[in-house]
Amino acid sequence: MTDVLVAGHVNWDVTLVADRLPGADEEAVIRERHRNGGGSAANVASGLAALSVEPTLLGSVGDDEPGRLVRESLAERGVDVDGVQIVSGETSTKYLLVTGEDVSVLGLDGVNEALDPEDVGAEDVADVDHVHLTGQRVGTAERLAALAVEAGCSVSLDPGRRAGERAFDGVMNHVDLVFGTDREIAALFDESGTDRDDEGRTEGGTETVTPDDAIVVETNGAGGATCCDPASGEHSHPGFEVEAVDTTGAGDAFVAGFLSVWLDGGEHGRALEVGNACGAIASRQVGARCDLDPDVLASFLE
Ligand code: ADP
Repeated sequence: MTDVLVAGHVNWDVTLVADRLPGADEEAVIRERHRNGGGSAANVASGLAALSVEPTLLGSVGDDEPGRLVRESLAERGVDVDGVQIVSGETSTKYLLVTGEDVSVLGLDGVNEALDPEDVGAEDVADVDHVHLTGQRVGTAERLAALAVEAGCSVSLDPGRRAGERAFDGVMNHVDLVFGTDREIAALFDESGTDRDDEGRTEGGTETVTPDDAIVVETNGAGGATCCDPASGEHSHPGFEVEAVDTTGAGDAFVAGFLSVWLDGGEHGRALEVGNACGAIASRQVGARCDLDPDVLASFLE
């Protein structure tokens, strides 16, 4: 079995399915309300565990009820949560407003970036084959990427929705695979040369080193995904038609599906197909966590 370290956000999601997005001084009706574990790193780790990859999660939650529930549910799903620190404060909470095909997010940052670069070490990557990095402190991601390369692991990065706000140069130097939507990839590869602060944050653009040999995987919602490999060219898969009710976590499910095939030595076309199937399955239900076990996946692909 392949062992993967996934590092980044571990959150608590409150999803409200409403009839419409209210404007100022308006009120809309909530049709459904769900509370669940979320956060990109946690979602990918959960998906990988269902797909027979052994994930270890690195991140932080608060010393509150959501933090306890999040760790417990991930452990139940087969994720090693020993590296999820419990720190004083509130677990990061995202309030997701689902209206039709759109999802709007209000985020309470909480303590999901408590992990310092000094908190990670060679022991974190010693027993893994691959390291997947999601949005997090730039310094921590850089250190993990460097440690992973030193240990001979492959590395992937999915910077997420806030891709343009932080420069991941020091990570991009080490990656084998980059994931993102077209907007996120554009933000990541933007070479506008904007100034950055110590944490790599920019205003309106980034100056990111483009790795010559990294595989770039771009997801495109209902339109499927493409993968550009400098060694073998462009590959694409059109995705699957499903009745989407909430696309939260679809990108994370896609990453889990793609990685499960790629890490097993599968072809890019197959990785895209399985990634798209996982993304489509995630889109059919409310919430970021979905059942991606091999039986569900096999019957979907039939
Ligand atoms: P993110 O969830 O990160 O915003 P996308 O919207 O591109 O990313 O979705 C990721 C993947 O999830 C897509 O490539 C596709 O496989 C699947 N997906 C997303 N939305 C739909 C949809 N409406 N119908 C079918 N598949 C979807």
